[in-house]
Amino acid sequence: MVDAFQKFDFLFKIVLIGDGAVGKTNLTTRFCQNEFNSESKSTIGVEFATKQIEVDGKNLKAQIWDTAGEERYRSITAAYYRGAVGALLVYDVTRFSTFENLPKWLGELREQADSNIQIILVGNKSDLVDNRVVSKEEGEKFARANHLSFIETSAANATNVEKAFTSLLNEIYKKTA
Ligand code: GDP
Repeated sequence: MVDAFQKFDFLFKIVLIGDGAVGKTNLTTRFCQNEFNSESKSTIGVEFATKQIEVDGKNLKAQIWDTAGEERYRSITAAYYRGAVGALLVYDVTRFSTFENLPKWLGELREQADSNIQIILVGNKSDLVDNRVVSKEEGEKFARANHLSFIETSAANATNVEKAFTSLLNEIYKKTA
């Protein structure tokens, strides 16, 4: 069992970025607390949650920062990205505009974050099969072209959420250790 007072070997700051309402908060709460909220609530400012996982017998503590994608919160970005070693770049497979905005988010990451930051592209809401407008192939193609890892998730039914975070943490660990 991992408890709040357990010692850790590595502390990794992870940020979630992407347009508003793509599911950043719910991915975080699903991973950290195994919870999902169907009520939409706007994330105000910045919050972070933590979770420890074990890799190669080492305890990795992830400090996961979640903020709203809204332009009006732009002023927090410098502090938000500072020290981050990993990012989940999230879009919503049911809203094409969130996919079209990915280059804008990547540009911001390149400007503000450390150049070594490890990024995983996450197509969220895969449970909404009837509303899907971005195919898995389009996501894969964008990821390949931009040298990102890629996964589709559902915070609602928990598909691949753990895998998205743990594979990112594994990649970071491999580069660090
Ligand atoms: P954020 O603004 O990016 O943090 O997005 P939220 O986590 O607040 O989610 C926005 C809305 O999408 C909420 O109504 C969530 O319940 C819903 N949502 C988030 N993830 C999923 C998902 O995987 N599937 C479905 N069906 N809805 C989701």
